This record gives sequence, structure tokens and C-alpha cells, in this order.
Amino acid sequence: MSVDVLERRLENERQVAEAQSRSDGRWPDLLQVAGLDEQYLRLKRNGPCPFCGGKDRYAFTDKYGDGSYFCRGCGGGNGLKLLSVVFPEKTFMQRVRWVLESLGAGLPELPVRPRSSDAPRRSGEPLSREEFARRKARHVKLWNEARRVSVGDPVWKYLTGRLPELDAADIPAVLRFHPALPYWEQDEDENFVLVGKFPGMVAAIQGPDGVCCNIHRTFLTEDGGKAPVPSVRKKELSLQVKGGAIRLHAPASRELSIAEGIETSLAVRVFRGEACWSMVDAGGMEEFNFSVLDDIDLLRIYRDNDLPDGRGVRRGFQAGEKLAERAKAMGKRVIKYAPAKTGTDMLDFVRSLPKRS
Ligand SMILES: [Zn+2]
Repeated sequence: MSVDVLERRLENERQVAEAQSRSDGRWPDLLQVAGLDEQYLRLKRNGPCPFCGGKDRYAFTDKYGDGSYFCRGCGGGNGLKLLSVVFPEKTFMQRVRWVLESLGAGLPELPVRPRSSDAPRRSGEPLSREEFARRKARHVKLWNEARRVSVGDPVWKYLTGRLPELDAADIPAVLRFHPALPYWEQDEDENFVLVGKFPGMVAAIQGPDGVCCNIHRTFLTEDGGKAPVPSVRKKELSLQVKGGAIRLHAPASRELSIAEGIETSLAVRVFRGEACWSMVDAGGMEEFNFSVLDDIDLLRIYRDNDLPDGRGVRRGFQAGEKLAERAKAMGKRVIKYAPAKTGTDMLDFVRSLPKRS
């Protein structure tokens, strides 16, 4: 057996053990969050079986706190097996990872394995070890307080409000719903003041090494509107890692699409069927680190055609141009898309493009 295979097997075993210990006693909640119909979660009552269709052979027993069930027709299993009812397309290990993510085990499972061993590039005054740890702890806390997006929550309302075609099951795991995001603002004396708490969307930004290096927040209302705050979108305090992205989808084949905003990137997925990463903002697009894209030959770049800012600079448009030039210099094929008209809403633009099969 090769070292690679052995390592992967050991890592899988570790994840299974961690998922089992973390989920102990929490299966009724977990299965409900996953979307399993309540009728399959009534304790020790004979009812219809989600596997074999028997009408009165099934009972949810949760015998050892492991989400177990038993059916007199087709046998029994634990909560991980029951999850396959709601996630028929997920493999066993994917269900294990879903459990880990849902229970806030560290930061998200990476859609793409880190390939680069590059040390993250830092800029400016380096953070002290204490400050780095403090910021990292803030990120982890926010992430762990948040949970998977589910139908009816404010993030779901917000995203499907903008993109009615988006299926809840297709909302990537790097996006989460936080019930009460604190919004801080600096007063005249530069002291931070807590303005309020709002439901919101948190997104994990992964650095070139694949490790989460910042958290992006979108402040919302319970109805899925934008919160009444000056900046609806904010990044958390930076770990000074450059070149990160919100890796919404794992690249298929050797192609990847790139856009600025999360919503635009999701639209690219919905309407064009492409794996798309969000660069967060124009700065992120300029700094994006290509070392993670060794296996990508074709890059599709969806550029904003933004209005000039106060200084006459069209930052988003130019950032897309620079990114394209860098990609070409690295021998990659690049296809650029941008609305012809300045100021066009990117979702409308992506929606108007021909569908790809
Ligand atoms: Zn059955």
C-alpha cells in the first residue's frame, strides 16, 4: 500500500472517530437540520421506513445516542446511514464530513486539497504571535457559532431572494448562517462600539495553503434583506495572508471560473454550470494567488463593469483585467466575460449569458 493511500485511510478513520464522538447524543437535531422528515425521528414508534417503503416496520431508536434505527423489513443502522436518506448522492465519508462541519469541527472541509506548501505571504507589519492567535480565535468562534444554511433561515431567504433558481442543497458548505453577528463601528474617539447584532452569512476565505485565513460577513435581516448598517459586507480582521478566495465549488476537469462577489459566483454555477470561486472584492481579485491552480488550464473570469469611483477608477473592471494578464502569463487560457454596459447588475448579466451544456 502506498504511503498516500495509507495516510488517507488513517485520516478517514480519524474523521469517522471524531464525527462519532462529536455527534454522540445529538442525532435527533442533526438529522432534523439535514432535512430528514420528522416522521422518521419519532422515538420508538413504528412507522413508515425511509429505506424499504414498509408502512409500519420502522422505528427510530437512537439507542446509544448514535442516531440508530431499526426496520423489521430491511434491518438497522446508525445516524450516518440515516443521513443517506437526505443525502443520497453523498458517499459515506462525505456524510462523515458533513457531520463534522455541522457540529463546528474546526474550519470547513476544503473543497480542494491544499497543493501548495508555500508559506502564506505576509505584508505590512507582521502580526505578533498573540495578535495572530487572537484573530484566528475570533474566526474560529464565528465559524463555530454559525451552522449550515437551511431552508427558511435568513441566509437562504437572502440568497434565493436574489437567485430564485438556487437549490438549497446546492448552497456550498463554505457559506454558513450565523444567528447574531455583532456589528462594530468606531466612534469619534476610535473606540469600537457595538451597534447591534444581526443574522448574517459567514463565508470562509481560504488562503493559498487551503487554510481558512479570514471570515467574510454579510449582515442581514430576519427576512433575508440587507441589514440597516453602513457596510453590509465586511471581512473580519485579517491574518495578513494574501491571495485567498471563497472556494465555493470544487473545480471540475481542468476549468475554473472566478468572480468577485459570492452572489455572482453562485449565479455562475446556477446559470452556467461552472465551478466558481469568489475573490470577495476587487482587491482579492488583484492579489489572487495562482499557485493553487496548477491543474487548471482554462480560467473564466467574470468581471464587474463597475462605474468609476470618486477618483475615476473602475477598480473591479481593472482588477479583472490584471488577473487575466497574470493568468495568461502563466500559460493559462482565459475567457473574459463582462457586461457591455457600465453599472449592469452582475446577476442580470450572468443570467443573460447563453447556457452551457
Ligand atoms: Zn425498511
